Amino acid sequence: MPSKRIIPIASRPARLSYSCDKCPSYCCTYPLIEVGKRDIARLAKHFGLSYERAEERFTKFDQEEKVRALRHRKDEHFGTACQFLDQETRRCTIYEARPGACRTYPNGPTCGYYEFLKFEREQQGDEDFIATTTA
Ligand code: SF4
Ligand code: SF4
Repeated sequence: MPSKRIIPIASRPARLSYSCDKCPSYCCTYPLIEVGKRDIARLAKHFGLSYERAEERFTKFDQEEKVRALRHRKDEHFGTACQFLDQETRRCTIYEARPGACRTYPNGPTCGYYEFLKFEREQQGDEDFIATTTA
């Protein structure tokens, strides 16, 4: 006799305890935001460039860590940030074409930086305060 087939109750998606809309996009300032071939191909398509041109223009290879990552430029709050981060709005300028790493971060319902930011804003009594991680 065949065993009963069970369709389990879908687990609810975890409720996020952070709000990227209220954050200066600290994660976009991580020194190595890794990209793969699919990410580069997506960027090339978005900008109407060849794969090689997109790779050269938007990424760099880190010899030490042996990974290819997004290029940075100066950032007024965190030293440097991904070149696609709008410095005024603190939002991604290529949201639809952003790499996989940006889509999945922070890979869970919580974000360490956001917890820190929330704490600092409460301490300062300033909901727009931009908390940096260095003294
Ligand atoms: S640091 Fe956290 S809260 Fe801020 S934009 Fe990145 S994921 Fe969102
Ligand atoms: S591509 Fe967009 S989301 Fe990804 S690091 Fe750069 S600015 Fe942030």
